[in-house]
Amino acid sequence: MKSLKLLFLTIFCFSLFSASENTIGKYKCMPCGLDCDKAVFDKAGKCSKCQMELVKSSSIIYKSIKPNSICSYIKSHPKTILLDVRTKEEFEGKADPDFGTLKNAINIPIQELENRIPEISRYKNQEIIVFCSHSHRSPQASYLLTQNGFKDIINMTGGMSTLTDKSCNK
Ligand SMILES: [Zn+2]
Repeated sequence: MKSLKLLFLTIFCFSLFSASENTIGKYKCMPCGLDCDKAVFDKAGKCSKCQMELVKSSSIIYKSIKPNSICSYIKSHPKTILLDVRTKEEFEGKADPDFGTLKNAINIPIQELENRIPEISRYKNQEIIVFCSHSHRSPQASYLLTQNGFKDIINMTGGMSTLTDKSCNK
C-alpha cells in the first residue's frame, strides 16, 4: 500500500514537472556564440539581436570546457575526438592570424558540417570536443551535432585564440 502511494506521488510529481516544462518552457537563442546566447525568453520566436531562431533551452544539451583546462583534459581523455570547425586554411595554419590547432584534430568547416555528418557518425556515442578560434562557430556546430543525435558534445569556450597552454597544439 505504501509503495503504491509512493508510486502515485512519483507519477504526480513527474506529470507536474513535465506539464510546467511544456507551458512555461523557456527559450534561448539558437547558439551563435554571441552574448545573446545567455538571454532567456518565455516564448518562441526570433532573437532580436542576431535574428536566429529561439529554441527550447532544454534542447541545448552540449557541455562546455574552458580553454585553460583543455590540454590536461585531452591528456586524461585520450579517446576524445577533437573537431575543428574552422576553414581548411585556418586548420592548416595558412590563415592570418594563425591560432593553431590541436594535435590529432579532425577538420570539418561549419559550413559543410551538416552535409558531412555521415563522415563522423561513427562517433555519435563518443565524446567530441568542438572548437574554433573564438567560440563563435563552435557553439553552433555543437548544437547542430546534438540535434543530429550526437550524445556527448563539449564546446570549447573562448576558442584557440585564448589558449595559453599550447602543449597540445599541433
Ligand atoms: Zn541571438
